[in-house]
Amino acid sequence: MTDRAAEIAANLADVRARIEAACKAAGRSPEEVRLLAVTKTFPASDAAILAGLGVRDLAENRDQEAAAKAAEVDAPVRWHMVGRLQRNKARSVVRWADEVQSVDSPRLAEALARAVAAARDAGERTEPLDVLVQASIDGDPARGGCPLDRLPELAHGVIRSSDLRLRGIMAVAPLGMEPRAAFDRLASVAGELRTEFPTARELSCGMSNDLEEAIDYGSTCVRVGTALLGGRGLASP
Ligand SMILES: *Cc1c(COP(=O)(O)O)cnc(C)c1O
Repeated sequence: MTDRAAEIAANLADVRARIEAACKAAGRSPEEVRLLAVTKTFPASDAAILAGLGVRDLAENRDQEAAAKAAEVDAPVRWHMVGRLQRNKARSVVRWADEVQSVDSPRLAEALARAVAAARDAGERTEPLDVLVQASIDGDPARGGCPLDRLPELAHGVIRSSDLRLRGIMAVAPLGMEPRAAFDRLASVAGELRTEFPTARELSCGMSNDLEEAIDYGSTCVRVGTALLGGRGLASP
């Protein structure tokens, strides 16, 4: 094992132990919580190490970087898009992504549906695209996400197409808001969404610094970068 592989293996063991402890504290089963490894800014070799260690879900936030990385990693992993997405990137994203967690407008949903259909016609993919709608917990439009009161309209936009499968809801705890308060609000919105759209069972929240709080509020998918791979420095979000 290389030094880097040993380092990542130790980090992964720590993260898995944190998830397990948080589930235990919340009276939940660890099987209810998926670990998404966020590999943005890190090389394909790190993604391959994670895959070799049994991580099945990898996430990226930029189309161009992700497309290249996904092409390089030859392993049975699922790729997730978690970053802000322009509609003109939809055609490219559906070539590598199994799931897009950052769908925040009906127009983006429509562009992705068209892109999946085109990719199918071109023989580039066979499966529909799994989709999470991204919620903006504090309603600040600057950082992406759909305002909470517009989520039902967005979810309707997603289920309109048989090329998209509505799987749930994703959010990032806003800066300057206590994570527990943020996840509490998100959990109640997620519950309402699930009542109207029964397939929307995923609640994607919790990152390196707040995964315990997120699991306590019902997260089914934590997205972890720094705690697995190290710091990304200032230039990269
Ligand atoms: C980068 C990123 C993460 C991972 O954040 P860490 O703090 O490094 O764990 C999770 N979710 C999204 C949407 C991200 O962009």
